[in-house]
Amino acid sequence: MASVTLNQIGKSYGAVTAVEEFDLEIADGEFLVLLGPSGCGKSTTLRMIAGLESITTGELSIGGVRVNETDPKDRGVAMVFQNYALYPHKTVFDNMAMGLKLQKMPKAEIEKRVNDVSDLLGLNDYLMRKPAALSGGQRQRVAIGRAIVRTPEVFLFDEPLSNLDAKLRVKMRMELQELHKRIGVTSIYVTHDQVEAMTLADRIVILNGGKVAQIGTPRDVYDNPETEFVAGFIGSPAMNFLSAEAAQDGWKITGTDLTLPRPQGLGDACEVATLGIRPEHIEVLEDGDASDPWVFKAMVKLDELLGADALLNLSVHGQELLVRVDGTDFPQAGAKVRIRIDPNRVHGFDPATGLALSRASI
Ligand code: ADP
Repeated sequence: MASVTLNQIGKSYGAVTAVEEFDLEIADGEFLVLLGPSGCGKSTTLRMIAGLESITTGELSIGGVRVNETDPKDRGVAMVFQNYALYPHKTVFDNMAMGLKLQKMPKAEIEKRVNDVSDLLGLNDYLMRKPAALSGGQRQRVAIGRAIVRTPEVFLFDEPLSNLDAKLRVKMRMELQELHKRIGVTSIYVTHDQVEAMTLADRIVILNGGKVAQIGTPRDVYDNPETEFVAGFIGSPAMNFLSAEAAQDGWKITGTDLTLPRPQGLGDACEVATLGIRPEHIEVLEDGDASDPWVFKAMVKLDELLGADALLNLSVHGQELLVRVDGTDFPQAGAKVRIRIDPNRVHGFDPATGLALSRASI
């Protein structure tokens, strides 16, 4: 196991900047997720760490040693790919043993390692099968096993669950969590799926257009997004965004008859703001207290049952708001309701820069 340090690491292809220089210290044993939409630079960052892509600027260290010029095979890293990259004509055993044979490891040691790892991953019954006779989840487990037998200092995962169906993804996600708890190897994991990032990560690095938008724990990035981009990317369904102008009696929502009180200390000096409210931070009430300034009349335009939860599309004085409610009993389309917005969970962003308005500026 080892720490990984990125010191002003950046990547350009000619005039195109794929990853802007940034610093990151990944602790020994940490599970770090690189998250962002397609093209944001996640794979490029991972491939630079793996040594599959040259580093344009900065210094990369693994276990405190500079590895910019080190061969991928000598960096102590093992990579798990989205497409498994298994040899189709080799058995599960041989797929896992391949790297060790190339290292000329003694046969008995190879057998011991492959058997230990197949125990760990529940692959004992499949060792003599070829990949074609395995399910997608089993193939991915073999790919992970092949990485583990090499006892790497660092695991690199490139969207390893993307080819699996939704149910299997959830199962494999849990297996990966379990595995990380057991073997504790420093892991760097690329995904565009924010649920995967939230559930697996000790810390998440959110990238947008080749730039780091925020680095934080899942709780941090959910509770305190530093930009409108992060606020919109983390959380499902996504946060409601409302354009607002400062008015005498609060924030007037542009193009509607809705005015919200100014949450204390949120962008007090601003004339305009984008307010952000998560669908789970709006409550639908049987009968709201009419004197509460955060209670509003609303009309249900659409209702969607998801199972445990339901989504309501509400019209609130001309503003549409998506609200998440309990799925057992909820008002149907056409119903008139009252809602309460949690003032402590209202976010504010500067529309010009997208940066969060600080609440600390009271
Ligand atoms: P992600 O993994 O987040 O989808 P990538 O790291 O693959 O994104 O790509 C980041 C950016 O770098 C993209 O704009 C992509 O087009 C560009 N890019 C990646 N590889 C090359 C290359 N070989 N030549 C030029 N541009 C590249």
